[in-house]
Amino acid sequence: MADFEIPEVKEDIEIPHIHPGVMEKPGPFVAKPEHQKPLGYPGELLDNWQEAAIAKMGDLLKKYRSLKVFMDACVKCGACTDKCHYYLGTTDPNNMPVARQDLFRKVYRRYFTFAGKYFPRLVGAVDLTEEVLDDWYNYFHQCSECRRCSVYCPYGIDTAEVTMAAREVMASVGKGQKYSNEIIGKVFTIGNNLGLPEPALRDTLEGLEEEVEEDTGVKVRYPLDEKGAEILLITPSADFFAEPHIDGLIGYGKVFHEAGVSWTLSSKASEAANFGLFIGSYENMRRIALRIREAALELGVKRIIFGECGHAWRVAYSFLNTLAGPWDFLDQRYPIPQHICEFTWDLLQKGKLKIDKSANDDMVLTFHDSCNVARASRMGDKPGGQFEIPRNVIKAVCNNYVDMAPETIGEGTYCCGGGGGLLTDDLMEVRVKGALPRITALKDVVEHNGVTHMAAICAICKSQFTKVIPYYGFGMDQIVSVHQLVSNAIVLTGQTE
Ligand code: SF4
Ligand code: SF4
Repeated sequence: MADFEIPEVKEDIEIPHIHPGVMEKPGPFVAKPEHQKPLGYPGELLDNWQEAAIAKMGDLLKKYRSLKVFMDACVKCGACTDKCHYYLGTTDPNNMPVARQDLFRKVYRRYFTFAGKYFPRLVGAVDLTEEVLDDWYNYFHQCSECRRCSVYCPYGIDTAEVTMAAREVMASVGKGQKYSNEIIGKVFTIGNNLGLPEPALRDTLEGLEEEVEEDTGVKVRYPLDEKGAEILLITPSADFFAEPHIDGLIGYGKVFHEAGVSWTLSSKASEAANFGLFIGSYENMRRIALRIREAALELGVKRIIFGECGHAWRVAYSFLNTLAGPWDFLDQRYPIPQHICEFTWDLLQKGKLKIDKSANDDMVLTFHDSCNVARASRMGDKPGGQFEIPRNVIKAVCNNYVDMAPETIGEGTYCCGGGGGLLTDDLMEVRVKGALPRITALKDVVEHNGVTHMAAICAICKSQFTKVIPYYGFGMDQIVSVHQLVSNAIVLTGQTE
């Protein structure tokens, strides 16, 4: 089924021997002019691309002080070398975080340091050649910007930021990535990553209302573009049709119904994801985020809640105010924005949801911490809330829960392998191999603790896992949404069965 070798899943996550060049590939499909131009980038590689790329690097080094510090601070201690899931899964030494950074650093040294300008060989500085550009394109698309390496670096060097900078430089000289840029273009023209127009959204939501009424006898609403609703739900467009995402959306609706609050989705801001983050483009990230502001103002909502999406929550939690604030027209008594898990946990704590945990007794659950939630955001009002709150929700609606090995969850969680703009079929080998550490940890609790299902609160994690775990002998239905579990267990007022 695969035209590459599937790594063997061992008892433990092992540090592999290196195999230089094993992932030396052309990289993902390059964006065409129609994918580049709507984002403000040149359609094709510029004639003077070297000069333009070096100028762009200079801009970014000035704009992001952290990038400059990351370029200068690495002491080659090696602490990050075995921390990247892509290195562990592919064995290519260029997938060690320090080596990935060095692809950028050696060009930085050549053009932005005294020693590199005059004694390049002494300091490992190189010219920005076509070969170097090809390596950038390939290996900076084998990084999911998960930030795991930064947790273990004594200087906090964040390879994700280096990857973002490299991608921004490349897109700005005409070598962007097709997958991410095409998706951003769809958000600008249609409102969501999947290009689902308003009638398709409305149809789906009406179908969900019928389905829930058939199942429960209760008319739960899934409203779209309802002016005057209290809450605007911003959720990944995968929630409208993909499995198991849509089961999570059903769950959000049931929670809002039982909470007795009015809510709505928006056809204008029908996407929580913000791929501007992945390509390192502040301007595109801002344009995407502004759609949420416009929708909130047009609909007159008082609160904004985000559905289950990892990097969307990172952008929302960390940058929404800078990108699209001020949010002074919203109700200041509530977090702006709020995560759906915070909302549900609050109701569960107050005893406002009637729960029958036995509805999930056919499963033994574990939880995959998504990287952007784990290492780039929080939930609730105390440190670690992003780890506790989703687990609290699961434990409140399920009887059987087991965590995976401690070093593979929480702050040290392993990426699913498909984040950061890598969730495309042209990167399937990278995705399957990058999932190895998580699969190893999952297999351990499956074999020793009887775990049957893994829950996640990220649309990319859910899509990635359902696609790659069959390569390792698991079933795609073993991945579930957290609010799918809530949906199973919630007993609606007036429910007939
Ligand atoms: S950010 Fe994540 S994917 Fe990128 S080098 Fe670090 S550990 Fe690897
Ligand atoms: S852990 Fe930090 S300082 Fe050490 S090699 Fe990696 S990036 Fe450099």
